Amino acid sequence: MRGGGPGSGTSRVALRRCPLFVLLLGAPGSGKGTQGKILAERLGLRKITTGDILRAAVRDGTPLGRQAKKYMDDGKLVPDSVILGLIKEELANPDAQEGAIFDGFPRTAAQAELVDTTLGEHGQRLNRILLLDVPEEELLRRLTARAAQEGRSDDTPAAIQTRLQVYQRDTAPLVAHYAERGIVHRVPGSGPVDAIATEIQRDRKSTRLNSSHSQISYAVFCLKKKKRKKVHGHVALS
Ligand code: AMP
Repeated sequence: MRGGGPGSGTSRVALRRCPLFVLLLGAPGSGKGTQGKILAERLGLRKITTGDILRAAVRDGTPLGRQAKKYMDDGKLVPDSVILGLIKEELANPDAQEGAIFDGFPRTAAQAELVDTTLGEHGQRLNRILLLDVPEEELLRRLTARAAQEGRSDDTPAAIQTRLQVYQRDTAPLVAHYAERGIVHRVPGSGPVDAIATEIQRDRKSTRLNSSHSQISYAVFCLKKKKRKKVHGHVALS
């Protein structure tokens, strides 16, 4: 491809040097996993999904899995005392240095603080929050259908109710925290998967590589960021 397209040397170098961190935020059943997978594939970034990591740990019977199981089955959050170490470990992974799609974390104020601090230590920050907005009746319908199909241990009616309440109490307040930075993009999350993915794709700030124009902006953003880092040392850009 010519002229700085997605596969060209120039844009690839720019992407590598300028990590992009996107958080999929939304209630259980809002489609974070599905849309996160599509976005991660399109951007060539890793998706970090705490729910999947925890489910694998439970399956394998590791110490983390044994600590987490009861909370997960009840639809409660695994305590921060357990989860913060896991998040730190995931962010330290060399793969994550190029950027990542976060699915399922941060979910509490303490987790958000850890993410901000850890990314900030590397002169990075969360660039975009995609907030999947789905009415509660639709969430209930989807979670109940998934319970019938997949038989997840936390898709029982009681656990589903708890998970929706926990989301409202502990996770929804993070929206205000990120909105203050002007990085929240609200995406209507009902309707066909493709239509929602297209809506996400239209958001230039989370898909900077979609057009030649946005690629140029992205490269300029990266150059500015590099320059600021050189002058100020570790700087968390706003
Ligand atoms: P999910 O697949 O994201 O709905 O997560 C399933 C369950 O895993 C949640 O109900 C929690 O019990 C646990 N979990 C996943 N991510 C986190 C997190 N960041 N903090 C605390 N608990 C989590």
